Amino acid sequence: MTQAYLNGCEWLCEDCGKAAGLVDSYCNGGGEADSPQHCASCGAFLENPLTGDGYAYVAEQLDNSHGGDREVMTLWAEFYKNEDDDLDRAIEESGLIPGFKQWRREA
Ligand SMILES: [Zn+2]
Repeated sequence: MTQAYLNGCEWLCEDCGKAAGLVDSYCNGGGEADSPQHCASCGAFLENPLTGDGYAYVAEQLDNSHGGDREVMTLWAEFYKNEDDDLDRAIEESGLIPGFKQWRREA
């Protein structure tokens, strides 16, 4: 699991946190949040879990991904796939993961 370091109100990845001399680390990229967290210094994706609002946020970003940062969107899609029906639908429609089909859960 990705460790993260809190620097004031900003999250840093493990490398940047250690480089900044921070001591306390947090597991799961700092924990559940309303959006994917990235290192404030180098931009590395911290792989944090998402709240329900967080899944909706990512699905919305994927729907609007034309002109967005497809590299970042793909990181998110790969990490959060198969966790939320609406997000899976957005991933399938975005085409960011070739061949990805939404896994439809049994009712
Ligand atoms: Zn970093």
